Amino acid sequence: MASRLIQRIVTAPTSGRGFSSSVRKVTLIPGDGIGPEISAAVQKIFEAASVPIEWEPVDVTPVRQADGKFGIPQAAIDSVNRNKIGLKGPLMTPVGKGHRSLNLALRKEFNLYANVRPCRSLPGYKTLYDDVNVVTIRENTEGEYSGIEHEIVDGVVQSIKLITEEASRRVAEFAFQYAKDNKRSKVTVVHKANIMRMSDGLFLRCCREMAEKYPEVKFEERYLDTVCLNMVQDPGKYDVLVMPNLYGDILSDMCAGLVGGLGLTPSGNIGLNGALFESVHGTAPDIAGKDLANPTALLLSAVMMLKHMELNDQADRIQDACFEVIKEGKYLTGDLGGKAKCSEFTQEICSKIK
Ligand code: NAD
Repeated sequence: MASRLIQRIVTAPTSGRGFSSSVRKVTLIPGDGIGPEISAAVQKIFEAASVPIEWEPVDVTPVRQADGKFGIPQAAIDSVNRNKIGLKGPLMTPVGKGHRSLNLALRKEFNLYANVRPCRSLPGYKTLYDDVNVVTIRENTEGEYSGIEHEIVDGVVQSIKLITEEASRRVAEFAFQYAKDNKRSKVTVVHKANIMRMSDGLFLRCCREMAEKYPEVKFEERYLDTVCLNMVQDPGKYDVLVMPNLYGDILSDMCAGLVGGLGLTPSGNIGLNGALFESVHGTAPDIAGKDLANPTALLLSAVMMLKHMELNDQADRIQDACFEVIKEGKYLTGDLGGKAKCSEFTQEICSKIK
């Protein structure tokens, strides 16, 4: 059953993903902080590339629900359920109090179980290594982020790391199928089953079992700490990496650092009934509203989204224009060592779209 569902998400024709070939509405969650600026940049570039989609912007500011708790407004939920695809800017999460993470709520609401984060060295943009080309696939619904926390007695709290066979198996299957579909040769499962024998042990077992079903894809097992060390010394060692939630969150930021920072790395949250694409970075409150943000990460997330919708021509033209601007190096934003404003960088990409 799971196998057939994943097949549909990754490889089926557009009609099989629930999109109509004529009307392509995409839910847009502009987000907080730099979110509105970088979302506007993406919209402008999409217009320049004549992408045949219609944006449906929604507000996800938490509203009080019948049970008294704050949650995602129904209109936003309906929009994603209708369109089955969305682009999302970063959302602010209050620390230690206030509403729970809306990012987590969205992933749970739509069961977006696989978080796919490709990370590659960009041609012409100099970093320590020029051969980084890894994809982290992170289990996105449970693990350390299951949100089950309580105080046992005063001064002692407990957070539950929840690992289930069902979620582990489906993300493992997603990783192998992703490797196969994208002509990647190896899947590495990243874990700490030597310490967390039961939880990571279960995740590891599910990956081992899945590896047997994909003999054409090489499989290896590595401890998280070993992968961190190798990643900064010899990132070319890795290809596709699959891991529980928290490890993927942290490791993918480290990968982003290897190719030029958070302003460059995209991601897709893939579920059984829809997909939400978003940049890996957060709301960058230190530069919000100043026209200083790098929109590349959200733009490349939007490119991933176009590929998911099988609008490959538009995806390639936008990606080529973006990479050309970065390679030329004349209009780089501050995070990449340049002086260009977000709007200038965006305009330059628009002018290079073929
Ligand atoms: P952050 O990613 O917002 O910022 C870290 C650093 O990277 C900052 O110096 C920032 O200026 C820089 N940066 C990030 N994106 C950039 C871009 N596009 N261009 C240029 N520079 C960029 O991380 P943070 O400060 O830890 O988090 C801020 C808020 O974002 C928090 O509320 C956090 O919960 C939230 N957050 C949301 C998401 C999400 O929506 N998926 C992800 C991570 C963090």
